[in-house]
Amino acid sequence: MAATLAGVALRAGCVNFATTTRIKQRVYYPCASPALGPSVVVGLKNLKTGPLMKDCLFCRVVSGEIPAKKVYEDEHTFAFEDINPQAPTHVLIVPKKHIRGLKEASQEDADAIGRCHLTAAHIARQRSIEDGYRTVLNVGAKAGQSVFHLHVHLIGGRNLQWPPG
Ligand code: AMP
Ligand code: ZN
Repeated sequence: MAATLAGVALRAGCVNFATTTRIKQRVYYPCASPALGPSVVVGLKNLKTGPLMKDCLFCRVVSGEIPAKKVYEDEHTFAFEDINPQAPTHVLIVPKKHIRGLKEASQEDADAIGRCHLTAAHIARQRSIEDGYRTVLNVGAKAGQSVFHLHVHLIGGRNLQWPPG
């Protein structure tokens, strides 16, 4: 697949298409490719889960470009501590594949989204907060979504009120 994508970029006229960065195993495509769009970054370790978006905060966390306190990682999901925790446990679980949000998700994203929730349950079990935790998926700016890479908040370790604000 890398060869195919590289071929696409080359055909699109990207002479210096493979500028390796300080992050091992990553290849940038710095010039716009009509086939791939201007913001696509291919991370080799993510070839199975789809392209990363260069301008997306959480894609950059997944790739390691932006540091985060990693909690868990598997082939499909990545979990890290929220930078502004709202509870003793506040972990974000994201699909490695870039999905903008729940309303933009399609049938083919069902597995990745389900896995994010199962990862949340796994972390809750590990942290012994199974007596009460919440998984939250903010959808759209009006509901508080501020990062447009789908993420599940795992919040727990304290009493939680209902309904949320
Ligand atoms: P939402 O408002 O539902 O889109 O959630 C975004 C969450 O991402 C917020 O709880 C932020 O505190 C958190 N956040 C933003 N930037 C970072 C970062 N670099 N590392 C960890 N968490 C972050
Ligand atoms: Zn993303």
